[in-house]
Amino acid sequence: MQYRDSADISGASVNQAGGGSRGSAGGRLAVGGGGTIVVLILALIFGCDPSGLLGGGTGSGDTQVANPVTQCTRGSDIQANRECRWNAYMASIGAYWSGALQGFKATSMTTFSGRVSTGCGAATSSVGPFYCPVDQVIYIDTAYTATLLSQLGARGGDAAEAYIVAHEYGHHIQNLTGVMAKAQSSTQTGAGSASVRLELQADCYAGVWFRHSTDDPNGAIKSVTQDDLNRIIDAAIAVGDDAIQKAQTGSVNQESWTHGSSAQRKNWTSIGFKTGDPNKCDTFSATTLG
Ligand SMILES: [Zn+2]
Repeated sequence: MQYRDSADISGASVNQAGGGSRGSAGGRLAVGGGGTIVVLILALIFGCDPSGLLGGGTGSGDTQVANPVTQCTRGSDIQANRECRWNAYMASIGAYWSGALQGFKATSMTTFSGRVSTGCGAATSSVGPFYCPVDQVIYIDTAYTATLLSQLGARGGDAAEAYIVAHEYGHHIQNLTGVMAKAQSSTQTGAGSASVRLELQADCYAGVWFRHSTDDPNGAIKSVTQDDLNRIIDAAIAVGDDAIQKAQTGSVNQESWTHGSSAQRKNWTSIGFKTGDPNKCDTFSATTLG
C-alpha cells in the first residue's frame, strides 16, 4: 500500500487517549438495556475477553482527555511519523463514505494504550479494536492490534490494519443507517444470527472501501497491490470465530459465534471488494452466508 505524499489527511480525527484522571466521572456504562449486548458484540472483533469493557471503571486514571495526534497533515508525514498512517486510513475511508452515503457524518478514532474510558464503559486492550455507538468513536490500541494479528497467524501490515479500521468504520455506517439498532434487538448468537450478519456486513463494507481506496486522485492511498488484498483476506480469516475458538479451546462451537467463521468473513470481505457496492452487502437478506 502506497500513500500519496500530497494528500491532505488533516481532516481525519485521530486522538490519543491520555492526560490523566479528571475526577469521578468514571467509565460506567452510560447506556441501558441493550447497551451491554452492543458492547459485547461490537467489542469482539478478535473474540477476546470483553470483561474489561463492562467493569465499573471508576479507578483513577481511566478517564482521559483526548489529545489530537498533531503533525499529520499530509501523506508525506507518514515517512517521518508512522503513526500518521492511522490518519491516512481514516481520511481515505471517510472520504469514500462521504460520497457513498447520504446523510454521512464522519466518525473519529481514539488510540490508547492498555486501558481507556469510553461512552460504552471502560475498556482494556484485550477486547481488541471496537466501535462505541454511544459516543460514536472507534477505539484502538494500535500496538496491541499488531501483536494480536500476528498471534492469530495473520501477516498484518498496513492493509490489514486499514481493513480493521474500515470494519469498525462499517459499524459507524450501520449506526447511521439504523441497521445496528435493528440488529441489536436480538441477543442470539450463532452462525446465522443477527450479530454475525452485522459483523459480516461490516466486513463487506471494509471490502467495498478497499476496492475504492485508490479512486480519488488526491486521496491518501496512492496504490494497492495483490499482496495488500491477500493480507486483508488473511486477517479476515484469522479473526473468524471458529479460528479463534480453535486456538483458544481446541474446539469449535457454532452456537456461540458472534462474528462469523473464517469462511464467512472471507466471503463477505471478498463480496465487498469484488462488487465495490455497499448495496451488495445485505447480509440480513442473504440465505447463505458462506
Ligand atoms: Zn465488528
